[in-house]
Amino acid sequence: MPRSRFAVRSRRAFVDGGFRPAVVVVEAGRVVDILDGTRRSPARTRLVTVPDDAVLLPGLVDAHVHVNEPGRTEWEGFRSATLAAAAGGVTTIVDMPLNSLPPTTSAEALEIKRAAAAPSAYVDVGFWGGAVPENLGALAPLHDAGVFGFKCFLAPSGVDEFGHLDRAQLGRAMAEVAALGSRLIVHAEDAALLSDPGALGRGYDAFLQSRPPESERAAIAAVIDAARSTGGRAHILHLSDARSLPMIAAARAEGVDLTVETCPHYLAIAAEDVPDGAGEFKCCPPIREADNQDLLWAGLIDGVIDAVVSDHSPSTAELKRAGGGDFGLAWGGISGLQVGLSVVWTEARRRGIPLDVLIPLFTTGPARVAGLDAGRIEVGGPANLTVFGVDDTMRIEAAALRHRNAISAYDGATLRGRVRRTWLRGESIFDVTEGRAGEAPRFRGAPTGRLLRRNAARREHDGR
Ligand code: ZN
Repeated sequence: MPRSRFAVRSRRAFVDGGFRPAVVVVEAGRVVDILDGTRRSPARTRLVTVPDDAVLLPGLVDAHVHVNEPGRTEWEGFRSATLAAAAGGVTTIVDMPLNSLPPTTSAEALEIKRAAAAPSAYVDVGFWGGAVPENLGALAPLHDAGVFGFKCFLAPSGVDEFGHLDRAQLGRAMAEVAALGSRLIVHAEDAALLSDPGALGRGYDAFLQSRPPESERAAIAAVIDAARSTGGRAHILHLSDARSLPMIAAARAEGVDLTVETCPHYLAIAAEDVPDGAGEFKCCPPIREADNQDLLWAGLIDGVIDAVVSDHSPSTAELKRAGGGDFGLAWGGISGLQVGLSVVWTEARRRGIPLDVLIPLFTTGPARVAGLDAGRIEVGGPANLTVFGVDDTMRIEAAALRHRNAISAYDGATLRGRVRRTWLRGESIFDVTEGRAGEAPRFRGAPTGRLLRRNAARREHDGR
């Protein structure tokens, strides 16, 4: 039998949008057959059996990750980020265009970024481009080079080299992106409704008040106007303000091409629970109050929210603790790439929401947002698979997570559900059982992640 042929048997495999008993047959990195039930076993095939207290999922897709290499690799690099992804069951990430240097705002910058990623990618990596005041009118080369869409800000981004767009520029960017057939993904906070940056003190309330929900609402309304008037495709990044959801649903009902994502930290952490001086909880837009969180969950269950993504945006510990815990001065960004599904599943259990509601939000949802062909277990597709122990208990220690800097909003938390194993194109890239007692799980072999380009996500790669 070919060594690369094996089958994974699971009583609960997520296939065709639901859980069912299945045997997934893999050969040469692809799913070649999906047998119904678990009793049949293909001949001459090595069999991996998923225990009954775990489920077999498609490899997760995280369409919102900031890998800061090159330029700010001390914040996060491709090796550490993709190892964290693999340990979190994520087999595809799409990298954001800012915080690395140069930012991904030209075709040349994209090639620099791809060269940095190529030797270190343990999972597949796609790239977003950036739309900034300086490159408006000249986005086509970056589109042709294969970015999945263009990110812009409507408020300061946090780094000087990635400027934000005013309303007129938003309209121009939307029109240009529409003409290219691409998508504009927007950090939707309105600069005019945010307080001036600067010291705010160690209390979370002052920070929360400095970035009110109205700033999200105004920015989202502007994005909807721009998408409506151009016929272009738009996406709202990291929605925190749940009261913007009716406006988004209404726009969509009227035919505006609009999607929206939220993040695990908005679904699982409430402002009331953020300790004073705890910069690891700072992100923009901010984590809001518990009543807002309830409405986000309603939007998720109603299907208004398309995707749950990490917005993994690390920095060094020094920057996260700048100003001795001053929420105005700390770097804004939460490092959650490795724990997203466990964080959301823990909260979903508490709310009585079943796992099958969540899986599309971590797989086909973000894939659709990015225009990626990924996130399904299907015959002919890549054998990107993950085993999730639904009842496992996992105590988070920031230092044990794989991302570069040992900072986590979940440090000390006990989560339910744990990724036990991940395959990328049939290769085991993470296996929790391989670590000896008290030792971190090992990763095998050289990185085999591919660098993805738009429209060629599944088949074309760097020749590796
Ligand atoms: Zn982000």
